[in-house]
Amino acid sequence: MKIDQYDTAAVMAVAARPELVFVEGHGSWLFDHRGKRYLDFVQGWAVNALGHCPPEIARALARQAQRLVNPSPAFFNDAAIELAGRLAALSGLPHVFLASSGAEANEGAIKLARKWGQKNKQGAHEIITFGDAFHGRTLATMSASGKAGWERLFEPKVPGFPKAVLNDLASVEALVGPATVGIMLEPTQGEAGVVPAEDAFLRALRRLCDRHGLLLILDEVQTGIGRTGTMFAFEQVGIRPDLLTLGKGIGGGVPLSALLATDAAMCFEPGDQGGTYCGNPLMAAVGSAVIDAVSTPAFLATVRERAAQLERGLAALIARHGLTGQRGRGLLRALDLGTPDANRVVEVARSLVPDGLLLNAPRPNLLRFMPALNVKADEIERMLAMLDGILMDST
Ligand code: PLP
Repeated sequence: MKIDQYDTAAVMAVAARPELVFVEGHGSWLFDHRGKRYLDFVQGWAVNALGHCPPEIARALARQAQRLVNPSPAFFNDAAIELAGRLAALSGLPHVFLASSGAEANEGAIKLARKWGQKNKQGAHEIITFGDAFHGRTLATMSASGKAGWERLFEPKVPGFPKAVLNDLASVEALVGPATVGIMLEPTQGEAGVVPAEDAFLRALRRLCDRHGLLLILDEVQTGIGRTGTMFAFEQVGIRPDLLTLGKGIGGGVPLSALLATDAAMCFEPGDQGGTYCGNPLMAAVGSAVIDAVSTPAFLATVRERAAQLERGLAALIARHGLTGQRGRGLLRALDLGTPDANRVVEVARSLVPDGLLLNAPRPNLLRFMPALNVKADEIERMLAMLDGILMDST
């Protein structure tokens, strides 16, 4: 495809992309190659915790790039030691493996759980996961996912991921057997359309795991690092997982993820897990810069304020346009239009002039909002006003 001066032919066509090329971003705004700007409520799919090109990340990258980029994962490096220590202290899970993507962190969690089952539960290896779950795009994490349309893709899948129904405890209990080693879920299913696991359900899963000696694996790739208003979503429920995975926000836009484990769950031995980029200081330095910014009580309080503002604004739109409702936690919210118009709204929003608006439609009836965690109050108002205008024109 030719987009003005760009020939995109060499870019493998794995996504249906609109005909524009992004060349710059600052805070909540992205700029395309024609100079048009867009208010960004997608932020790299809930990735840019501090918005586009935040000075904290630019500084951390520049400083670290001049000191040490990658001594190999076979050696300790100071940046990875610092980030691992900080994640352990914040989460209460003392063993941290740094990786590059959410899928890689989840793949590590699956491997660790399987090894734990071999050592402690006569080879138990099944991990109960959930319909509509999303855990990544490696073969094992695709198999763990319950994404509609993936059932027949890239067969045969990795076995060992029986699917239960979110918020239905009986459906989980029915799957627990001698081969079960753990239960894995997102505290709020993001790609499914922002579907929160109920607090009581999460607590019941914790108890079920304790009763049967299973590992509770929380995939906080999307919900972690302040996205739901606390550092980790599990804090709001009063439980702690045995394994925790982080991604997206932890890198503020760069490839960084983490697998965390309790003492009791940690059973990797040297050689079991690794990767060329795992724990590289360049990305680890960014992770610490993100944590510096996000983990303060004042920052998280502001996330909660902005989330409440977004919720109030969406409630007003729902009332004004007769929409179906909203759901979500913190700055991960979805608006149910009640009609299959979400993709059209996304396109109209992007095409607005002079400024466009970037939204995401995880389902035909749903718009998802995942702005930068430091989005400003007036940017939320601006987004709501733009959306109001679109909804007005469509009714
Ligand atoms: N887990 C969850 C909950 C996610 O939302 C995602 C990505 O959307 C992933 C895992 C996969 O992360 P990545 O795309 O970095 O591999």
